[in-house]
Amino acid sequence: MSMRELVVLGTASQAPTRQRNHNGYVLRWDDEVILFDPGEGTQRQLLHTGVTATDLTRICVTHFHGDHCLGLPGTIQRLSLDRVPHRVAVHFPAGGAEYFARLRHATSFHETAELAVEPIEADGQRITVRGGTLEARRLRHSIETYGYRLVEPDGCRMLPERLSAYGIAGPAVGELLRVGHLDVDGRRVTRDEVSVSRPGQRFAFVMDTALCDAVYALAEHADLLVIESTFLESETALAAEAGHLTAAQAARVATESGVRTLVLTHFSQRYSDLRRFADEARRHFAGDLVIAEDLTTVPVPPRRVASAG
Ligand SMILES: [Zn+2]
Repeated sequence: MSMRELVVLGTASQAPTRQRNHNGYVLRWDDEVILFDPGEGTQRQLLHTGVTATDLTRICVTHFHGDHCLGLPGTIQRLSLDRVPHRVAVHFPAGGAEYFARLRHATSFHETAELAVEPIEADGQRITVRGGTLEARRLRHSIETYGYRLVEPDGCRMLPERLSAYGIAGPAVGELLRVGHLDVDGRRVTRDEVSVSRPGQRFAFVMDTALCDAVYALAEHADLLVIESTFLESETALAAEAGHLTAAQAARVATESGVRTLVLTHFSQRYSDLRRFADEARRHFAGDLVIAEDLTTVPVPPRRVASAG
């Protein structure tokens, strides 16, 4: 079944709270199911959401601070415990390969699951995944950190009634798609006359960074943007110093980048009332706003409206 949604496992930064588990997010993108930044407690949070280890096809780690990766040992061992039959790709900053090696073999276990370990070596690295291209961009934090975005290419949808009106059927449809036009009874029919464009969808994941160009590059025209807002505007100086964003900054990025659904998360434990994040972001962003809560799901919004050919 085709389904695109974000499953929120945890929304705390540095330290978990009574209400908020360490980070963790699953993106269901049809057959591609990506676990982002598994913090401590990821296995148990997964249990509450109905996503199983066997569902996972890929794991992406932004950086090797504990709140983004201490769930790796348990999650990786669970893949073997559950005898996950398919390879699971793992991406992380190449500079942190030593941390990954330790986490992967943190304790003794019977390893049966196969990992495809594919570190991110450079800013702008692209990886082909089911349903699009995953792109990594180098963020600005105290250690090597990459944000990710998943871009589905634009496509087109043929209109059967127009095709039949022109008497085009069978292999001729494929030729029209490939070449862009087709001569039918002395008349040239173009692809645009018998199809509508199908805009690709975009998901972006921006964690642990000060404001920088890569944040905008990742967020550009995202249908769904998951972005850290560790702090409120009242702590702007502290945020810059620690390499983090405020809710106001994240919301302005979303507005300037044409984001449709904005998901704020990775909240500092100093805040107990998250309504302040909503109020602050709302002053800068008019689209759909979600203050992420543990164990909730956020659907990727329906495709942008296709333009008629
Ligand atoms: Zn963090």
